[in-house]
Amino acid sequence: MEAINFTPRPFLANTGTTIFTVMSRLAAECGAVNLSQGFPDFQAEPALFESVHRHMLAGRNQYAPMAGMPELRQAIADKVAALYGTRFDVETEVTVTAGATQAIFTAIAAFVRPGDEVIVFEPVYDSYVPAIETVGGKAVFAQLNFPDYAPDWAQVAQLITPRTRMIVVNSPHNPTASLLSADDREKLAQLLAGTDIVVLSDEVYEHILFDGEVHASLCAHPGLAARSLIVSSFGKTYHITGWKIGYVVGPAALMAEFRKLHQFNVFTVHTPSQLALAEYMQDAGRHLGLASFYQEKRDYFRRLMAATPFELLPCRGTYFQLARYRRISDLPDRAFAEWMTREVGVAVIPISVFYACGHDDRVVRFCFAKQDSTLASAIERMRKVL
Ligand code: PMP
Ligand code: GLN
Repeated sequence: MEAINFTPRPFLANTGTTIFTVMSRLAAECGAVNLSQGFPDFQAEPALFESVHRHMLAGRNQYAPMAGMPELRQAIADKVAALYGTRFDVETEVTVTAGATQAIFTAIAAFVRPGDEVIVFEPVYDSYVPAIETVGGKAVFAQLNFPDYAPDWAQVAQLITPRTRMIVVNSPHNPTASLLSADDREKLAQLLAGTDIVVLSDEVYEHILFDGEVHASLCAHPGLAARSLIVSSFGKTYHITGWKIGYVVGPAALMAEFRKLHQFNVFTVHTPSQLALAEYMQDAGRHLGLASFYQEKRDYFRRLMAATPFELLPCRGTYFQLARYRRISDLPDRAFAEWMTREVGVAVIPISVFYACGHDDRVVRFCFAKQDSTLASAIERMRKVL
């Protein structure tokens, strides 16, 4: 259909389609094993589905309160208190969102005004910068350097200006599978002390850490809790990325600003699913068991990958594995990812897309949130060609 003439907003003029959609589409076209976009290819427990169905049949099908069903907010507050020792107020400090993506977008829109600066770490998860730029903010890039992807706090200190409104952190980190350390949290707190900078902490992989590492939410840090909005997502935790339900916790004053926008861009989230999640959360074993569940998958995948020429980087959290491919090809990573999908039959994500300037360390990301048979068939394809 023909459209009217219009001029796209400046940054949208250069915005393409997210790499996750691009690679999943290409994988489907080529019949490739899709280890690109991050989602499990196995089912969640039937108990969760039965519960949604029961709540639907019981007539729980109308709008939930704007902040989320009280049962779910209570379950979230209880979980956060049990794990991190911080008790958020159910009425004023917990909000259920349409996934983490909406939570992140709304948080940015609530705090960032035109001309404000927001510090993000590259490689940066792909939804942050478009959200910042949509509201007229300026993304300022700190670097997580290959191969250990640790923050350089001296660099961050130099990037902070009077215009800095927010800093976005993400641990466990997508796409690099690295973690912030206790020392990182301390340095961040020191740098921000005395400023009014808000921290947006993307903790969607909070339950997926390996080798005995324990997630330390920023809400557990006395200096950071007062300035932080913490985002998480049930998609990652309960194998239901398609449900698009997540949440934000944070101090009442920050949450009040968040809700001013949340009420008008989403208002509220699917009621029967919220009720089902509230019930499902009562068994803490379900989220506490996630780390060992994924560690087995990570270890299995890494063992299989040892038979290929890929060189694996450490994977300390998330369900992603980075790998160098210099023994296979000297293509740039985007071209290599396409070649892998078309010629090898395994779709992966190039990492350069998570850099504003397209910086390319020639590494790609595999998602191992898959059935063992899927992982084995991906490796078989690689062994045939590589
Ligand atoms: N942040 C990170 C780091 C993610 O990896 C993802 C999704 N994979 C999201 C946010 C978005 O989560 P959701 O699907 O709940 O919107
Ligand atoms: N976050 C998922 C990933 O990293 C994808 C989510 C999406 O497709 N937007 O692969």
